[in-house]
Amino acid sequence: MDVLKDKHPDYRKLRQSMVDRQVVHRGVHAPLVLDAVRSVPREAFLPPDLREFAYDDSPLPIEEGQTISQPYIVALMAEALLLQGGETVLEIGTGSGYAAAVIAKIAQHVYTIERYSQLAVKAAATLAAEGFDNVHVLHGDGTLGWPEHAPFDAIVVAAGGPRVPESLKHQLRIGGRMVIPVGSRDRRTQELLRITRVAEEEFQTEELLDVRFVPLVGEEGWTPDRPDDQPVQLAPARPAPLDDARIASSVALNCEAFTDIASADLEPLLERIGAARVVLIGEASHGTSEFYRMRARITRELIERKGFAFVAIEGDWPDAARVDHYVRHSNSPPSEWTAFARFPVWMWRNRETREFVDWLHARNAGLKFTQRTAFHGLDLYSLHSSIRAVLQYLDDVDPHTARVARLRYGCLTPWQTDPTTYGQAALTGQYRTCEDEVVAVLVDLQQKQQAYAEHDGERFLDAAQNALLVTNAEQYYRVMYYGSRASWNLRDGHMFETLQNLLRHYGPASRGIVWAHNSHVGDASATEMSKRGEYNIGQLCRNHFGLDAYSIGFGTHSGTVAAASDWDGPMLVKDVRPSLDQSYERLFHAAGVPGFLLPLRKPASNDLRKALLKPRLERAIGVIYRPETELQSHYFEAVLPGQFDEYVWFDQTCAVTPLDSSELKGAPDTYPFGI
Ligand code: SAH
Repeated sequence: MDVLKDKHPDYRKLRQSMVDRQVVHRGVHAPLVLDAVRSVPREAFLPPDLREFAYDDSPLPIEEGQTISQPYIVALMAEALLLQGGETVLEIGTGSGYAAAVIAKIAQHVYTIERYSQLAVKAAATLAAEGFDNVHVLHGDGTLGWPEHAPFDAIVVAAGGPRVPESLKHQLRIGGRMVIPVGSRDRRTQELLRITRVAEEEFQTEELLDVRFVPLVGEEGWTPDRPDDQPVQLAPARPAPLDDARIASSVALNCEAFTDIASADLEPLLERIGAARVVLIGEASHGTSEFYRMRARITRELIERKGFAFVAIEGDWPDAARVDHYVRHSNSPPSEWTAFARFPVWMWRNRETREFVDWLHARNAGLKFTQRTAFHGLDLYSLHSSIRAVLQYLDDVDPHTARVARLRYGCLTPWQTDPTTYGQAALTGQYRTCEDEVVAVLVDLQQKQQAYAEHDGERFLDAAQNALLVTNAEQYYRVMYYGSRASWNLRDGHMFETLQNLLRHYGPASRGIVWAHNSHVGDASATEMSKRGEYNIGQLCRNHFGLDAYSIGFGTHSGTVAAASDWDGPMLVKDVRPSLDQSYERLFHAAGVPGFLLPLRKPASNDLRKALLKPRLERAIGVIYRPETELQSHYFEAVLPGQFDEYVWFDQTCAVTPLDSSELKGAPDTYPFGI
């Protein structure tokens, strides 16, 4: 069955197949042990959000940075104790209480000791709730054992010390067995040993297998004052899936966790961004509220603290210009058309964007015009309104050139309402291409820059950008018919060209922020896009600005998202399916932290960065989301630390709230979201 789909998986069935595939298959055969693992509900010992992974072949994170052991390892150790039933057993390292429960199914009494009080309390509660009245939990240092209940028939230690503690050896009865990992503190070389007390002072030692356990910290274990004393992992060396749990724990340890967007500490991020000239901020969908709000929060800090000159979005230039007029309080006549009215309307016409725009409007009000932060568009889908804007501008500043431009743009007239048909017509020779014409308008404008810009540099920039957009869009629609790669590259090339024009316009000291999807801002050379010959604005920025470009990616595990099922379809609020195995998202979900920042350029742990370099699946939801074919439609292979300098995680997310036109009643004429 598909546990991803079902909120209440059939745990019993999953457990049976786990025992067969992970335990029996690997050679654990003791019937008492198999019966025990078949009957203990591992899910009950996990935090609720990890229950769906209860029967995965791996340890999982629990509280205090500790782990619940891999089922196989629990079974293997239980078998190694050679229990017949009815024994008194001591366990060191209660953790979640799962292993204690398994042993309690066989033994008569289980005494278990845990050094973290929170874990001890919680495990005792879980065990009681599951009806285990033969398990006794103690908070304390297990290396000293529990002399009051000694001698023990068996002792099992779930953490690795430098040697076998003498106290424990002497609490075994003659003939009793202890299973314990011993080895180096860094967990690189540990061996699972079985010690049998054959006589009062005679012990026999067998080496069972190589393992990796968290340190046994205590009087007869490792000393507790080193940073790696906060053990994160209980894992044997071999089976591959274990690595993921270890990486997840390392993410939990090394990330900068936050509980909500408003109070997240962005200080370290701002420090890492330093003096970067371009900060690219991504999103993993075009309809997730948390992405918009966190992006806005980071942007506000950058504007207030570092004086960024503009925000440039994955939206069309003329639409963004409407917002720009509003936020910079420009004296532009109210427009008769609605900004961001084309599909996908919700992408920018939403409450989250409006809140940021209103904030920028208010902040800019108190500043001189040259100090105000601008708002621009990088995209090229506005053929029609860009043509109009160029002509309007020329009508004002140079009526003669306007007449010529009107004739030239006339070439595109049949296509203005549906430019996607232009490429096909041009390609099949039904109509000639308009390339020369649109380029000529642009060149004319550029040649007259000096003269025009003297009137008004801002308006010139606007016209020149629109003319550039028409030129690139003409080409875009033409090459669309050669395939997606050429048009993708053209589009991102246009975005980059626009960004450069903006930096030039605002001067050599200016700095800019880009808002676009992860697939644009994350370096394409670190994803399977590069195999298709595609590049993007993130890659172009890296190549051009080097360390002066800082890109931030976003991700989520599940929740809801605003998206359509088809192009031009209505906006729907859809459930985001839980992320798939083998994806970065699943790994971050397993870290068990609801929200965090993860530095990738300057990581807190180089080992973690290295571990994340192994390519994995990554999810990209766009304006279209098709959960039915999610793997094929939305996952691609990537190397996350190669794509981004920083990653922002929200485990659970919600759809953006589209703007309702009734909300906008009474807004000023210049209000960019007005109808
Ligand atoms: N058996 C557990 C796994 C626990 S991981 C389960 O199935 O969930 C190992 C545990 O050993 C950790 O919780 C750690 O805090 C604990 N530990 C380490 N040193 C200890 C000590 N000296 N005494 C008691 N517990 C210790």
